[in-house]
Amino acid sequence: MIFAEDLNLKALGRSALRKACLDAAWGSFLDILRHVCWKRGVYFAKVNANGTSQICPHCGTNCGKKSLSQRVHSCSNCGYTTDRDVAAAQVVKERGLSAVGQVVPMHALG
Ligand SMILES: [Zn+2]
Repeated sequence: MIFAEDLNLKALGRSALRKACLDAAWGSFLDILRHVCWKRGVYFAKVNANGTSQICPHCGTNCGKKSLSQRVHSCSNCGYTTDRDVAAAQVVKERGLSAVGQVVPMHALG
């Protein structure tokens, strides 16, 4: 099961992040990823990317915007601390699972 942030590509394209996104367009990457998932029978879904870098994956508290230089998520509510990208990925996964309405154990994903 794969969940990916459905990023706003036009907004990204206008921003300074454009160079960081390289020429491997995120949209094409998602298309390839979706195809690979389909071939392998893996569930794939895009989820709302709003605030994934602000929400604590542990307790759901909105910890506010992080600057790009701030690499660590540290929750002011529960104290959960991890890499910001790891935290965002966990939020994406949680959103994906709640959208699907079921929790699939990791060992069942093959
Ligand atoms: Zn928290």
